Amino acid sequence: MTAVEPESLRFCFEACVKDTPMDGARLDIVEVPVIGRCSRCAEEFRMDGLLSPCPACGGSSIVRLTGTELKVVSITAA
Ligand SMILES: [Zn+2]
Repeated sequence: MTAVEPESLRFCFEACVKDTPMDGARLDIVEVPVIGRCSRCAEEFRMDGLLSPCPACGGSSIVRLTGTELKVVSITAA
């Protein structure tokens, strides 16, 4: 849940490598589920969107624990 959409990242990647020696390179995207914790009742749950309310108490003060990562894990030459 960064501002990066996996599909647009993939599209840009393919556009960038086209007609270069990297043409045909493959982009593997691992999406990390977003886990949030309710600051009212401490319930931890998987968020469907940025503003998902707490499923236990309906609270809207949610701290995101994961899901904002954006890392390049590896680059492998074919
Ligand atoms: Zn709650």
